This record gives sequence, structure tokens and C-alpha cells, in this order.
Amino acid sequence: MADSETVPEAQLTDGFHLVIDALKLNGINTIYNVPGIPITDLGRFAQAQGIRVISFRHEQNAGQAAAIAGFLTKKPGICLTVSAPGFLNGLTALANATTNCFPMILISGSSEREIVDLQQGDYEEMDQLAIAKPLCKAAFRVLHAQDIGIGIARAIRAACSGRPGGVYLDLPANLFGQTMDHEDGQKSLVEVVDPAPAQPPAPESVTRALDVLKGAKRPLIILGKGAAYAQADEEIRAFVEKSGIPYLPMSMAKGLLPDDHPQSAGAARSLALKESDVVMLIGARLNWLLSHGKGKAWGEPYSKTFIHVDIEPKEMDSNVAITAPVVGDIGSCVSAMLERMGEDWTAAPADWVASVRDKVQTNVERMAPRLRNNNVPMDFHGALGALREIIKAQPDTILVNEGANTLDFARSIIDIYKPRKRLDVGTWGVMGIGMGYAIAAAVETGKPVLAVEGDSAFGFSGIEIETICRYNLPVCVVVFNNNGIYRGTDVNPSGGSDVAPTVFVKDSRYDKMMEAFGGDGVYATSPDELREAVEKALASGRPTLINAVIDEKAGTESGRIGNLNPTSVVAQQQKK
Ligand code: ADP
Ligand code: MG
Repeated sequence: MADSETVPEAQLTDGFHLVIDALKLNGINTIYNVPGIPITDLGRFAQAQGIRVISFRHEQNAGQAAAIAGFLTKKPGICLTVSAPGFLNGLTALANATTNCFPMILISGSSEREIVDLQQGDYEEMDQLAIAKPLCKAAFRVLHAQDIGIGIARAIRAACSGRPGGVYLDLPANLFGQTMDHEDGQKSLVEVVDPAPAQPPAPESVTRALDVLKGAKRPLIILGKGAAYAQADEEIRAFVEKSGIPYLPMSMAKGLLPDDHPQSAGAARSLALKESDVVMLIGARLNWLLSHGKGKAWGEPYSKTFIHVDIEPKEMDSNVAITAPVVGDIGSCVSAMLERMGEDWTAAPADWVASVRDKVQTNVERMAPRLRNNNVPMDFHGALGALREIIKAQPDTILVNEGANTLDFARSIIDIYKPRKRLDVGTWGVMGIGMGYAIAAAVETGKPVLAVEGDSAFGFSGIEIETICRYNLPVCVVVFNNNGIYRGTDVNPSGGSDVAPTVFVKDSRYDKMMEAFGGDGVYATSPDELREAVEKALASGRPTLINAVIDEKAGTESGRIGNLNPTSVVAQQQKK
């Protein structure tokens, strides 16, 4: 490199390049974005500098892609948007990342502070920083080129350290054009050292937890997506196996141990929750997905003893009293427990292990014939039975899954065999993650992706199949088309000419959408046709959309969470 004496004019850099250099310095090699004012050139220059820039059609999908990239890689996924409306579109994903504990940075261009703050009506005027704050872990604005390095360093640290989450970074338009001496610019950048430092647990907390676990008659381990995120796969498997205790994977923790593992209580979930006496949560929260740790699902009036392993101390006692909190990162916590178990660990009580195992076997056997039906039109079991066999044969495939019935049935029917191979609607049960997650999964891992989508769920991000085709990604989308939301059979109770609010155009051909963009479209009416089409798509790696015709009468209201719908006295009276 030339020093200043041999360079006649001082070399300059600018805001654009400092942002790019700062990201690259910190190992960020992909940006998910939607171009526009003022960040169009940022995307162009980033691509020129060797960053992979994946452009989407809508910011929500780019944001969801960044969120799941964070989950898969433990590095913050970057979403880049334009000001006000683009920023707002990205916020759903930012909030979703925060809720799910995924590291992500939403970088949005914004209008000029002087005009925004005086409310003088600038192009896309909005106080974006204030709006983002309650939806993320941290929010920062950079006003001067010399602060870009620090701004990006803070954003990365905030996203990755402790409990991961979403971070907002506000970059006003005139920052990008600011110049400074090239060398000074390089010196102002910060390479973040150890962005997510290990947080080993207190030794007493480990001893306390193991003492409680040892005393249990009917112990249960619950693995959550925090455990999958931690990438401590070997340690977790060793710990569960050494303990001999039945375990229940939350949906995105499926595959940490293969779902056909002899200790899996997945197919005996109700029994395991009800009858266990001591429950160890590892990277799973006692939120609505676990009935808040209380009530009938947990066998009340019997009370349970909880051990909770989590990086976030504030999570302890959030819903029920935690007898043995173990606060730290899962890798360190599980290693510490494993070590402390030493040689004197007595196997989990055999009668309990056997009763869980028996229940699993009974349930699996009872389900098996339903999964082999070849009905036309397909029901959920027949269609998912076919997909289940494909994932079993090709366990490296990443399964993305959203919908109502399509989600609930797939979660229990499709076994997962490897860590982080199931990506779904997560903590919120949010619709619209499908294509964003599928695209990022393909981009970040290079593995084939199978996205199993309800027809309604698909609609939220469906236009991104153009993005899948544009980047020629190995994504096979299966749309479970039952003509509507939950079912396709609702009628307009008023007798008017509009269809019911939950009903779509009958017999839509989603496969033709894929053909419009140059991908492969397939129309499948039987489980055999569906299996054949998915096998072909995964073998070819070509962008494919399979319209799977599902019996419009087959679904139930809200899938398995119909209990969350408020009831109406008036409607009940009218039924009588
Ligand atoms: P699930 O929905 O699968 O039960 P949750 O999202 O409810 O999972 O819980 C994930 C938990 O994992 C959160 O409480 C989060 O703080 C925790 N977590 C995330 N990453 C780590 C980590 N590396 N070490 C420890 N805990 C983690
Ligand atoms: Mg449907």
C-alpha cells in the first residue's frame, strides 16, 4: 500500500465504502435487500466489493431472510431497506427476529435529520429510530462518516451477545456521500473481538440443577430453538444420552437428536408434559407454546419442579418458579453439566423411561397407516406421509414450514434428523416467513430446501418465487392448496355474492406462477405424484413449485390452536 508521501492527492473514502468495509471486516458476506433511495448504490458497491447481495421484491421477506440467516450462522443477518415505507416493511421481520432471539441488523436509509426533526416535510420523512426502538434490542443512528465503524461494531455486538436479537441501524442519506481520508477511514473501522463471549454458568447452579435432576422420578428434558442456535450439537446429544432422560424437542429444536432417537418423547408429548415431575428446559421459554408451564397440559393440580438453562437471567421465573436456574450460554452450561455428571450418574428411572417409550411406540404405530394413504384429493396425512419419506431419505434437506393445518400436521409427521433443518413460524406463529426463510436457508447453507406451505401462508411472500428463480436457488415449494384458510368450504352466511372471508379462488394453479418466472411448476393430485415431483425437484436443484391439491374439507379451524380463538355468545345462540 502506498503511504501518503507517494500519493500526490490524499485518497478519499466515503460513507458507502466505510459501511461496506466495516461489514466485510466483521465477516459479513451477504446482504438481503430491496434497492431504492438512498441505498441503491450501497447495494451496487457492496456487490462490487464481493459481498453477495440478494435483492427481494418486498422488505418483509428480505428481513425474514436476514433473521433466519442469523439463526443459521450465529452472525447477524443484514437486511438493507430504503427509508420510511421500506423501513416499516422491514420492521415485522426485525420484531420477529427479536421475539425469536435471532441476531439480525436492519439497516435503513433515512431522510435528513435537520428536516425530519423540524417536520418540514422531507421525502419519506419519518423518525425511524424512535419507531424502531421498542421493536428491537438496540437502535443506533450514525451521523458522521468517522462513526460508521463504531456504529456497526455496536450493532453487531448488540445483535449477537447475550440473548441474541434484532438491532436497528439508521443511516441518513447524506452520511453515504460524506468523505474522509482513506487511511483515517480504515483506522476508524472496528473488528469486533469475540462478539458473543461465552458465558459459563456459576458452578453452584450446575450442582443444584444436577441434584434436582438426580432426585427426579419422572424427569423430562425440553430442548428449544436456543439449543439449536447454540451450535453445541455434540455436547447436547452427549448430555441427553448420558442422562438417559426422555426429551421433547420444540419444533425448531427437532433434529438436535434425530426424531427417531429412542429417548425422544416427541410422539408422547401430552403424557410427557402431564406426568413428568422434574423438567429441565434448555433454550426453551415457558411461553404459550408450552402452556406457560402450568394448567391441565402440565397435569395440574400436581406441581412440577423446573430447571431452566438459558443465557437470559430475566427469563427465570417468568411464568412459574424456577427451582434451579442455570444462567449461561448453552454450550458452556451443557458442557459443565456433562462434566459434573462424571461417572456417578445413575440412569434415569427405568419404569418412567419405558412408559414414555411405550406411548411413543403406540402413537407411531397408530399413525403409520394414515400416512400411507394414497387418497385423491389428498388429505394432510397422505401428502405429509410422502414428504416424511423424502426427508428421511435426504436428511440434509432444510424444511421450511408455515400455515395452520399444514404447519401443525407437518411438525408432528415429518421427522427431522439433523440440527437446524427445520425452520418455521417460531414464537409468534407468524405467517409470511416462508420464502424469506427458504431463500436464506439456500443461500447460507447451499443445501436443498423444501418449503411446505399452506396456500394462505404462501400468499404472504409468494412473489419471492421470482427471487428464487433469479438466483436459481435449489428451493422446492409445495403449496398445500385447500382453497382457503383452514378449509375451503366456508360460505357467506348473508347469502351475498362475495365468498366467505376465509375462502380463495377455487382450484388456483400456483404452479403456473412458478412457470411464469422460468421455474418448474407441477400439479400434483396424489401422494405418489407429490413424492415423485419433490424427488425430481431435489435431484435437479431447480426452482420448483408443486401445487398439491388437498381436500378442501380436510382442515380444522386454526389448526391445533383453535382454542386461542375468542368465542362468541351470539354465534352460539344462533347455532341453537
Ligand atoms: P422454543 O420456541 O424453541 O421453545 P424459545 O425461542 O422459546 O425456543 O427459547 C429460546 C431461548 O434460548 C431464549 O430464552 C434465549 O434466551 C435462549 N438462548 C438463545 N441462544 C442461547 C444460547 N446461545 N445459550 C443459551 N440460551 C440461549
Ligand atoms: Mg389452506
